Amino acid sequence: MKILFLDQSGKPGGAELCLIDIAKPYRDRSLVGLFADGDFRKLLQQHDIPVEILANQPIQVRKQSNFLQSLASVGQIAPLLAKVVQTAKKYDVIYANTQKALVIGALASFLARRPLVYHLHDILSSEHFSQTNLRIAVTLANYFASLVIANSQASQTAFVQAGGQEKLTEIVYNGFDSQNYQTSEFEVKKIREQLGLEGKFVVGHFSRLAPWKGQHILIAALSECPPEVTVILVGDALFGEQDYVQQLHEQVAKLGLENRVKFLGFRADVPQLMAACNLVAHTSTAPEPFGRVIVEAMLCGKPVVAAKAGGAIELVEHGVNGFLVTPGESQELAQVINTCVAETEMTASIANRGKAIASVRFDIVAINQQIAKLLNQLSDDYKPTNSRDSKSVS
Ligand code: UDP
Repeated sequence: MKILFLDQSGKPGGAELCLIDIAKPYRDRSLVGLFADGDFRKLLQQHDIPVEILANQPIQVRKQSNFLQSLASVGQIAPLLAKVVQTAKKYDVIYANTQKALVIGALASFLARRPLVYHLHDILSSEHFSQTNLRIAVTLANYFASLVIANSQASQTAFVQAGGQEKLTEIVYNGFDSQNYQTSEFEVKKIREQLGLEGKFVVGHFSRLAPWKGQHILIAALSECPPEVTVILVGDALFGEQDYVQQLHEQVAKLGLENRVKFLGFRADVPQLMAACNLVAHTSTAPEPFGRVIVEAMLCGKPVVAAKAGGAIELVEHGVNGFLVTPGESQELAQVINTCVAETEMTASIANRGKAIASVRFDIVAINQQIAKLLNQLSDDYKPTNSRDSKSVS
Protein backbone atom coordinates (compact mmCIF):
# COMPACT_ATOMS: atom_id res chain seq x y z
CA MET A 1 0.00 0.00 0.00
CA LYS A 2 1.31 3.46 -0.96
CA ILE A 3 0.58 6.02 1.72
CA LEU A 4 0.81 9.80 1.71
CA PHE A 5 1.37 10.75 5.37
CA LEU A 6 0.64 14.40 6.20
CA ASP A 7 1.88 16.30 9.26
CA GLN A 8 1.76 20.06 9.83
CA SER A 9 4.84 20.29 12.02
CA GLY A 10 8.51 20.69 11.26
CA LYS A 11 9.25 20.06 14.93
CA PRO A 12 9.41 16.62 16.51
CA GLY A 13 6.65 16.44 19.16
CA GLY A 14 5.07 13.20 20.36
CA ALA A 15 2.76 12.84 17.32
CA GLU A 16 5.71 13.24 14.97
CA LEU A 17 7.90 10.71 16.82
CA CYS A 18 5.01 8.26 16.69
CA LEU A 19 4.66 8.85 12.93
CA ILE A 20 8.29 7.84 12.36
CA ASP A 21 7.49 4.37 13.74
CA ILE A 22 4.28 4.09 11.71
CA ALA A 23 5.77 5.27 8.40
CA LYS A 24 8.92 3.14 8.64
CA PRO A 25 7.41 -0.17 7.41
CA TYR A 26 5.99 1.67 4.35
CA ARG A 27 9.08 3.76 3.56
CA ASP A 28 9.92 2.08 0.23
CA ARG A 29 6.59 3.17 -1.24
CA SER A 30 5.31 6.11 0.80
CA LEU A 31 5.95 9.79 1.41
CA VAL A 32 5.68 12.02 4.47
CA GLY A 33 4.46 15.48 3.38
CA LEU A 34 5.18 18.26 5.90
CA PHE A 35 3.66 21.73 6.07
CA ALA A 36 6.81 23.20 7.65
CA ASP A 37 10.52 22.46 7.56
CA GLY A 38 12.60 21.68 10.65
CA ASP A 39 14.29 19.00 12.73
CA PHE A 40 11.46 16.54 12.11
CA ARG A 41 12.42 16.42 8.43
CA LYS A 42 16.00 15.58 9.42
CA LEU A 43 14.83 12.80 11.74
CA LEU A 44 12.70 11.27 8.97
CA GLN A 45 15.70 11.36 6.64
CA GLN A 46 17.87 9.68 9.28
CA HIS A 47 15.34 6.85 9.26
CA ASP A 48 15.39 6.73 5.42
CA ILE A 49 11.76 7.77 5.22
CA PRO A 50 11.04 9.86 2.08
CA VAL A 51 9.91 13.35 3.06
CA GLU A 52 8.88 16.48 1.18
CA ILE A 53 8.02 19.96 2.43
CA LEU A 54 4.69 20.67 0.74
CA ALA A 55 3.99 24.20 2.00
CA ASN A 56 5.87 27.35 1.03
CA GLN A 57 5.00 28.93 4.37
CA PRO A 58 3.69 27.50 7.69
CA ILE A 59 -0.09 27.72 8.25
CA GLN A 60 -0.82 30.19 11.04
CA VAL A 61 -4.00 28.73 12.65
CA ARG A 62 -3.43 28.17 16.38
CA LYS A 63 -5.16 25.63 18.60
CA GLN A 64 -7.22 28.40 20.20
CA SER A 65 -7.89 30.50 17.06
CA ASN A 66 -11.39 31.72 16.24
CA PHE A 67 -13.54 31.42 13.15
CA LEU A 68 -12.32 34.65 11.50
CA GLN A 69 -8.69 33.68 12.00
CA SER A 70 -9.49 30.28 10.54
CA LEU A 71 -11.05 31.91 7.48
CA ALA A 72 -8.03 34.17 7.07
CA SER A 73 -5.83 31.11 6.71
CA VAL A 74 -7.71 30.02 3.56
CA GLY A 75 -5.37 32.16 1.43
CA GLN A 76 -2.41 30.12 2.71
CA ILE A 77 -4.26 26.85 2.34
CA ALA A 78 -5.15 27.03 -1.38
CA PRO A 79 -1.64 26.50 -2.86
CA LEU A 80 -0.86 23.81 -0.28
CA LEU A 81 -4.10 22.01 -1.03
CA ALA A 82 -3.37 22.04 -4.78
CA LYS A 83 0.03 20.50 -4.09
CA VAL A 84 -1.38 17.84 -1.77
CA VAL A 85 -4.13 16.87 -4.25
CA GLN A 86 -1.58 16.52 -7.04
CA THR A 87 0.70 14.43 -4.80
CA ALA A 88 -2.13 12.30 -3.35
CA LYS A 89 -3.05 10.99 -6.79
CA LYS A 90 0.19 8.97 -6.74
CA TYR A 91 -0.78 7.24 -3.46
CA ASP A 92 -3.53 4.87 -2.30
CA VAL A 93 -4.33 6.42 1.08
CA ILE A 94 -3.99 9.83 2.77
CA TYR A 95 -2.94 9.53 6.43
CA ALA A 96 -3.41 12.80 8.37
CA ASN A 97 -1.35 12.86 11.56
CA THR A 98 -2.31 16.28 12.98
CA GLN A 99 -5.30 18.63 12.93
CA LYS A 100 -4.13 20.96 10.16
CA ALA A 101 -3.13 17.87 8.21
CA LEU A 102 -6.72 16.69 8.69
CA VAL A 103 -8.10 19.90 7.19
CA ILE A 104 -5.92 19.65 4.08
CA GLY A 105 -6.11 15.85 3.98
CA ALA A 106 -9.92 15.85 4.12
CA LEU A 107 -10.28 18.24 1.20
CA ALA A 108 -7.57 16.43 -0.76
CA SER A 109 -9.25 13.09 -0.06
CA PHE A 110 -12.43 14.44 -1.65
CA LEU A 111 -10.69 16.04 -4.63
CA ALA A 112 -8.20 13.23 -5.31
CA ARG A 113 -10.72 10.50 -4.41
CA ARG A 114 -8.49 8.72 -1.95
CA PRO A 115 -9.53 7.28 1.44
CA LEU A 116 -8.54 9.32 4.47
CA VAL A 117 -7.16 8.05 7.78
CA TYR A 118 -6.98 10.49 10.67
CA HIS A 119 -4.57 9.62 13.48
CA LEU A 120 -5.95 11.47 16.48
CA HIS A 121 -3.17 12.40 18.91
CA ASP A 122 -5.22 15.03 20.75
CA ILE A 123 -7.95 15.26 23.32
CA LEU A 124 -10.55 17.26 21.40
CA SER A 125 -11.91 19.27 24.31
CA SER A 126 -12.25 22.97 25.12
CA GLU A 127 -9.29 22.64 27.52
CA HIS A 128 -7.04 22.21 24.49
CA PHE A 129 -8.92 23.75 21.52
CA SER A 130 -11.23 26.60 20.52
CA GLN A 131 -14.87 25.69 19.75
CA THR A 132 -14.28 26.53 16.08
CA ASN A 133 -11.30 24.25 15.73
CA LEU A 134 -13.09 21.48 17.60
CA ARG A 135 -16.10 21.70 15.29
CA ILE A 136 -13.93 21.80 12.17
CA ALA A 137 -11.92 18.73 13.25
CA VAL A 138 -14.94 16.63 14.20
CA THR A 139 -17.00 17.60 11.14
CA LEU A 140 -14.16 16.89 8.71
CA ALA A 141 -13.35 13.58 10.40
CA ASN A 142 -17.00 12.50 10.37
CA TYR A 143 -17.55 13.43 6.77
CA PHE A 144 -14.27 12.52 5.09
CA ALA A 145 -12.38 9.99 7.21
CA SER A 146 -12.81 6.27 6.62
CA LEU A 147 -10.91 5.55 9.84
CA VAL A 148 -9.97 7.54 12.94
CA ILE A 149 -7.09 5.99 14.91
CA ALA A 150 -7.28 7.34 18.48
CA ASN A 151 -4.06 7.14 20.49
CA SER A 152 -5.93 6.27 23.72
CA GLN A 153 -9.35 5.59 25.14
CA ALA A 154 -9.27 9.17 26.50
CA SER A 155 -8.77 10.65 23.02
CA GLN A 156 -11.48 8.41 21.58
CA THR A 157 -13.97 9.37 24.31
CA ALA A 158 -13.32 13.10 23.82
CA PHE A 159 -13.77 12.72 20.05
CA VAL A 160 -17.15 11.03 20.52
CA GLN A 161 -18.22 13.56 23.16
CA ALA A 162 -17.36 16.37 20.73
CA GLY A 163 -19.74 14.80 18.17
CA GLY A 164 -17.38 12.39 16.40
CA GLN A 165 -18.77 9.12 15.08
CA GLU A 166 -17.71 6.23 17.29
CA LYS A 167 -17.96 3.67 14.49
CA LEU A 168 -15.08 5.38 12.67
CA THR A 169 -12.72 4.98 15.60
CA GLU A 170 -10.18 2.38 16.63
CA ILE A 171 -7.87 2.77 19.61
CA VAL A 172 -4.21 2.05 18.90
CA TYR A 173 -1.56 2.95 21.47
CA ASN A 174 1.86 4.25 20.45
CA GLY A 175 4.39 1.49 19.84
CA PHE A 176 8.00 1.40 21.09
CA ASP A 177 11.06 -0.70 20.35
CA SER A 178 12.28 -1.71 23.80
CA GLN A 179 15.81 -2.23 22.37
CA ASN A 180 16.11 1.57 22.09
CA TYR A 181 15.69 1.95 25.85
CA GLN A 182 18.66 -0.13 27.06
CA THR A 183 21.57 1.91 28.44
CA SER A 184 24.76 0.49 29.95
CA GLU A 185 25.89 1.31 33.50
CA PHE A 186 29.02 2.83 31.97
CA GLU A 187 26.95 5.28 29.90
CA VAL A 188 24.76 6.18 32.89
CA LYS A 189 27.86 6.96 34.96
CA LYS A 190 29.25 9.11 32.15
CA ILE A 191 26.05 11.14 31.77
CA ARG A 192 25.75 11.66 35.52
CA GLU A 193 29.33 12.90 35.64
CA GLN A 194 28.83 15.21 32.65
CA LEU A 195 25.74 16.74 34.22
CA GLY A 196 27.16 16.93 37.75
CA LEU A 197 24.53 14.55 39.12
CA GLU A 198 26.75 12.16 41.13
CA GLY A 199 25.23 11.27 44.46
CA LYS A 200 21.94 13.04 43.66
CA PHE A 201 18.43 11.64 43.56
CA VAL A 202 17.49 12.76 40.05
CA VAL A 203 13.90 13.43 39.03
CA GLY A 204 13.60 13.83 35.26
CA HIS A 205 10.89 15.70 33.38
CA PHE A 206 10.82 15.11 29.63
CA SER A 207 8.52 17.35 27.68
CA ARG A 208 8.38 20.55 25.70
CA LEU A 209 8.22 23.53 28.04
CA ALA A 210 4.56 24.61 28.01
CA PRO A 211 2.24 25.70 30.84
CA TRP A 212 -0.05 22.65 30.56
CA LYS A 213 2.92 20.28 30.75
CA GLY A 214 3.27 21.54 34.34
CA GLN A 215 7.02 21.89 34.85
CA HIS A 216 6.14 24.57 37.45
CA ILE A 217 4.34 21.91 39.53
CA LEU A 218 7.51 19.83 39.71
CA ILE A 219 9.61 22.85 40.70
CA ALA A 220 7.10 23.68 43.45
CA ALA A 221 7.25 20.05 44.65
CA LEU A 222 11.04 20.13 44.68
CA SER A 223 11.02 22.82 47.35
CA GLU A 224 9.34 20.21 49.64
CA CYS A 225 12.01 17.57 49.01
CA PRO A 226 15.38 16.92 50.72
CA PRO A 227 18.47 18.70 49.31
CA GLU A 228 19.86 15.67 47.46
CA VAL A 229 16.81 15.70 45.15
CA THR A 230 17.65 17.38 41.83
CA VAL A 231 15.44 17.98 38.80
CA ILE A 232 16.42 17.85 35.14
CA LEU A 233 13.99 19.52 32.72
CA VAL A 234 14.50 18.03 29.27
CA GLY A 235 12.69 19.75 26.41
CA ASP A 236 12.33 23.12 24.76
CA ALA A 237 9.57 25.63 24.13
CA LEU A 238 8.61 24.11 20.77
CA PHE A 239 5.63 26.33 20.02
CA GLY A 240 6.74 29.78 21.19
CA GLU A 241 6.03 29.51 24.95
CA GLN A 242 8.99 31.77 25.81
CA ASP A 243 7.05 33.60 28.55
CA TYR A 244 6.58 30.32 30.38
CA VAL A 245 10.29 29.52 30.17
CA GLN A 246 11.00 32.91 31.72
CA GLN A 247 8.45 32.21 34.50
CA LEU A 248 10.11 28.85 35.24
CA HIS A 249 13.52 30.49 35.65
CA GLU A 250 11.99 33.15 37.93
CA GLN A 251 10.26 30.47 40.02
CA VAL A 252 13.54 28.56 40.42
CA ALA A 253 15.36 31.74 41.50
CA LYS A 254 12.59 32.73 43.92
CA LEU A 255 12.67 29.33 45.62
CA GLY A 256 16.50 29.34 45.73
CA LEU A 257 16.68 26.14 43.68
CA GLU A 258 19.25 27.27 41.09
CA ASN A 259 21.63 24.45 42.03
CA ARG A 260 18.90 21.82 42.01
CA VAL A 261 17.14 22.43 38.67
CA LYS A 262 18.91 21.93 35.34
CA PHE A 263 17.36 23.09 32.07
CA LEU A 264 18.80 20.80 29.40
CA GLY A 265 16.78 21.99 26.36
CA PHE A 266 15.62 19.61 23.61
CA ARG A 267 17.67 16.39 23.58
CA ALA A 268 17.80 13.50 21.16
CA ASP A 269 19.20 11.12 23.83
CA VAL A 270 16.07 10.78 25.99
CA PRO A 271 16.56 7.03 26.80
CA GLN A 272 20.10 7.66 28.09
CA LEU A 273 19.00 10.66 30.15
CA MET A 274 16.07 8.70 31.57
CA ALA A 275 18.48 5.92 32.51
CA ALA A 276 20.45 8.51 34.52
CA CYS A 277 17.31 9.41 36.55
CA ASN A 278 15.99 7.84 39.75
CA LEU A 279 12.41 8.83 38.95
CA VAL A 280 10.58 10.28 35.95
CA ALA A 281 7.78 12.77 36.59
CA HIS A 282 4.90 13.59 34.27
CA THR A 283 2.98 16.61 35.53
CA SER A 284 0.48 17.71 32.87
CA THR A 285 -2.24 19.93 34.32
CA ALA A 286 -4.71 19.12 31.50
CA PRO A 287 -5.51 15.54 30.44
CA GLU A 288 -2.66 14.04 28.41
CA PRO A 289 -3.87 12.32 25.20
CA PHE A 290 -1.35 9.48 25.58
CA GLY A 291 1.92 10.39 27.30
CA ARG A 292 4.82 8.78 25.44
CA VAL A 293 7.27 9.76 28.16
CA ILE A 294 5.42 7.60 30.68
CA VAL A 295 5.92 4.46 28.59
CA GLU A 296 9.49 5.44 27.74
CA ALA A 297 10.35 5.79 31.45
CA MET A 298 8.89 2.34 32.10
CA LEU A 299 10.93 0.83 29.25
CA CYS A 300 14.05 2.39 30.79
CA GLY A 301 13.20 0.52 34.01
CA LYS A 302 12.56 3.77 35.89
CA PRO A 303 9.73 4.44 38.32
CA VAL A 304 7.29 6.98 36.94
CA VAL A 305 4.85 9.33 38.63
CA ALA A 306 2.11 10.70 36.37
CA ALA A 307 -0.75 13.16 36.60
CA LYS A 308 -3.97 11.22 37.04
CA ALA A 309 -5.96 12.27 33.94
CA GLY A 310 -6.50 11.37 30.28
CA GLY A 311 -4.34 8.66 28.73
CA ALA A 312 -2.01 8.47 31.74
CA ILE A 313 -4.69 6.55 33.66
CA GLU A 314 -4.67 3.89 30.95
CA LEU A 315 -0.89 3.53 31.23
CA VAL A 316 -0.33 3.62 34.99
CA GLU A 317 -1.97 1.64 37.76
CA HIS A 318 -1.06 3.33 41.02
CA GLY A 319 1.24 1.22 43.17
CA VAL A 320 1.44 -1.52 40.53
CA ASN A 321 3.54 -0.20 37.64
CA GLY A 322 3.95 3.44 38.71
CA PHE A 323 2.39 6.22 40.75
CA LEU A 324 -0.51 8.57 40.04
CA VAL A 325 -1.08 11.99 41.61
CA THR A 326 -3.80 14.61 41.30
CA PRO A 327 -2.94 17.01 38.43
CA GLY A 328 -1.65 20.36 39.69
CA GLU A 329 -1.09 19.16 43.28
CA SER A 330 2.58 19.81 44.00
CA GLN A 331 2.41 18.60 47.63
CA GLU A 332 1.05 15.23 46.59
CA LEU A 333 3.81 15.00 44.02
CA ALA A 334 6.41 15.88 46.67
CA GLN A 335 5.08 13.06 48.87
CA VAL A 336 5.55 10.51 46.08
CA ILE A 337 9.07 11.79 45.35
CA ASN A 338 9.93 11.52 49.05
CA THR A 339 8.50 7.99 49.20
CA CYS A 340 10.70 7.00 46.25
CA VAL A 341 13.77 8.53 47.95
CA ALA A 342 13.06 6.57 51.14
CA GLU A 343 11.68 3.26 49.86
CA THR A 344 14.08 2.19 47.15
CA GLU A 345 13.22 -1.54 47.15
CA MET A 346 9.48 -1.04 46.80
CA THR A 347 10.08 1.58 44.10
CA ALA A 348 12.48 -0.70 42.19
CA SER A 349 9.97 -3.55 42.14
CA ILE A 350 7.27 -1.21 40.78
CA ALA A 351 9.69 -0.02 38.10
CA ASN A 352 10.59 -3.61 37.14
CA ARG A 353 6.93 -4.50 36.83
CA GLY A 354 6.36 -1.36 34.74
CA LYS A 355 9.14 -2.38 32.36
CA ALA A 356 7.89 -5.96 31.97
CA ILE A 357 4.31 -4.86 31.24
CA ALA A 358 5.25 -1.98 28.92
CA SER A 359 7.60 -4.03 26.76
CA VAL A 360 4.74 -6.39 25.88
CA ARG A 361 1.81 -3.97 25.82
CA PHE A 362 3.46 -1.31 23.63
CA ASP A 363 5.66 -3.55 21.50
CA ILE A 364 6.22 -1.74 18.18
CA VAL A 365 5.92 -4.93 16.12
CA ALA A 366 2.49 -5.77 17.54
CA ILE A 367 1.28 -2.16 17.26
CA ASN A 368 2.42 -1.91 13.63
CA GLN A 369 0.61 -5.16 12.86
CA GLN A 370 -2.55 -3.66 14.35
CA ILE A 371 -2.21 -0.61 12.11
CA ALA A 372 -1.41 -2.70 9.02
CA LYS A 373 -4.55 -4.76 9.63
CA LEU A 374 -6.71 -1.64 9.88
CA LEU A 375 -5.19 -0.13 6.73
CA ASN A 376 -5.68 -3.36 4.78
CA GLN A 377 -9.34 -3.52 5.81
CA LEU A 378 -9.69 0.06 4.71
CA SER A 379 -8.40 -0.57 1.22
CA ASP A 380 -10.72 -3.61 0.92
CA ASP A 381 -13.75 -1.60 2.03
CA TYR A 382 -13.11 1.72 0.34
CA LYS A 383 -15.66 2.69 -2.25
CA PRO A 384 -15.24 6.42 -2.94
CA THR A 385 -18.88 7.30 -3.51
CA ASN A 386 -20.63 4.82 -1.20
CA SER A 387 -18.47 5.48 1.85
CA ARG A 388 -19.22 9.20 1.72
CA ASP A 389 -22.92 8.71 1.07
CA SER A 390 -23.24 6.54 4.13
CA LYS A 391 -21.73 9.16 6.44
CA SER A 392 -23.61 12.01 8.02
CA VAL A 393 -22.13 15.38 8.89
CA SER A 394 -22.29 16.34 12.54
N1 UDP B 1 11.26 14.31 23.70
C1 UDP B 1 12.48 14.36 23.06
N2 UDP B 1 13.39 15.29 23.47
C2 UDP B 1 13.13 16.18 24.45
C3 UDP B 1 11.86 16.13 25.10
C4 UDP B 1 10.94 15.17 24.69
O1 UDP B 1 12.77 13.57 22.15
O2 UDP B 1 14.00 16.99 24.76
C5 UDP B 1 10.29 13.29 23.27
C6 UDP B 1 9.88 12.33 24.38
O3 UDP B 1 10.85 11.32 24.54
C7 UDP B 1 8.54 11.82 23.84
C8 UDP B 1 8.00 13.01 23.04
O4 UDP B 1 9.09 13.91 22.87
O5 UDP B 1 8.73 10.71 22.99
C9 UDP B 1 6.88 13.72 23.73
O6 UDP B 1 5.73 12.95 23.61
P1 UDP B 1 4.53 13.03 24.68
O7 UDP B 1 3.47 12.09 24.23
O8 UDP B 1 5.07 12.78 26.04
O9 UDP B 1 4.06 14.55 24.61
P2 UDP B 1 3.60 15.47 23.35
O10 UDP B 1 4.81 16.20 22.84
O11 UDP B 1 3.01 14.57 22.30
O12 UDP B 1 2.59 16.41 23.95
